[in-house]
Amino acid sequence: MRYFNLFSTILITKGAHRILVSDLQRNTSELFPLEFYDLIEELKKNSIEEILEMYDQESQNIVQEYLEILLEYEYGFITENDWDRNFPALSYKYSEPNRINNLFIEIADISLLKRLKNAVEDLEIRHLVIYSKNLLTLEELISIDHIFTSSVLSGIEIISPFHKEIDQSFIQNLNDVTERIYSLIFYECPHKPFKSKDELKFSLSFVKESIKISSCGKVDMKYFNTNLPKVLEALNYNSCLHKKISIDIEGNIKNCPLMTESFGNIQNISLEEALNQPGFNKYWNLTKDSIEGCKDCEFRYICTDCRAYTERSHYTPENLDISKPLKCGYDPYTNEWKEWSKNPLKQKAIKQYELQKLK
Ligand code: SF4
Ligand code: SF4
Repeated sequence: MRYFNLFSTILITKGAHRILVSDLQRNTSELFPLEFYDLIEELKKNSIEEILEMYDQESQNIVQEYLEILLEYEYGFITENDWDRNFPALSYKYSEPNRINNLFIEIADISLLKRLKNAVEDLEIRHLVIYSKNLLTLEELISIDHIFTSSVLSGIEIISPFHKEIDQSFIQNLNDVTERIYSLIFYECPHKPFKSKDELKFSLSFVKESIKISSCGKVDMKYFNTNLPKVLEALNYNSCLHKKISIDIEGNIKNCPLMTESFGNIQNISLEEALNQPGFNKYWNLTKDSIEGCKDCEFRYICTDCRAYTERSHYTPENLDISKPLKCGYDPYTNEWKEWSKNPLKQKAIKQYELQKLK
């Protein structure tokens, strides 16, 4: 008798019509038909021979084909005889001791960052994302990095407009003297200004288009991320808002800068005080298992949620918005991707957001 043994790092997410098999060790995900799920479940309980006996010749060929796929992708291995196949299951618990993981700030100038240094320490913030509408000089970029040189912050991502002083030596200087910046995105860049030969400490992107904060929340396969900590977080908490705090351009402290609810202004209260306001973290425990549409989607643990833009169609009795993200064009019931902004069912919500912007 032969037995198939599935590795405990393989996570299977069942959707309405397909499954997604995620290899959490290799950070890859593959789509398969729903019947593949039933076979994997059978393989956990029965030998391959016992399973083959249940089917006619045609179905046996399909089972064999599926088994070859399981082996080809190295999702497990076959043993000759049964044995204690209880591999310790991978724990899906997610726990981080720090109170905040991500701080997002839209800055008008860098003075605010200096004032936030202590809060970053106290809340043990890991990642800082800075969005600027204004050009940032070399000196300003270096200062941003140096403010946090000795802090707990592990990385800084900066998104700012491109300008003509940004050339190879500008980037090289930055690379030589900065430590915390791990990602630099320059937008409104007509063409890539140079070809970088040297390895840089940070990832560097030049984007032709303008990047607006309001373009956040788009759901696309290119943003899906099969990465163990992110998947574990998505299994237990909200994949966008958990342990996030933001300061918008007017100083309003929010969970996400695009949500309407503000918990105070940075001119008057500290980040910690805002964080302690009732309701600040009301979406932190909301997983995609409770969100309309997403709960039946095979991508739900590798996809990022959005609560700032939703279809505004479903709410809990406590008034938590559990509607599907507005900017998702995927239908888990047909497995089709369509342009979300043209979906007739989303037009009412799109209009409401446009009106909100005009206020
Ligand atoms: S329905 Fe859309 S937003 Fe929801 S999990 Fe699937 S792809 Fe992501
Ligand atoms: S809630 Fe939506 S808009 Fe806000 S940060 Fe998350 S994805 Fe972006």
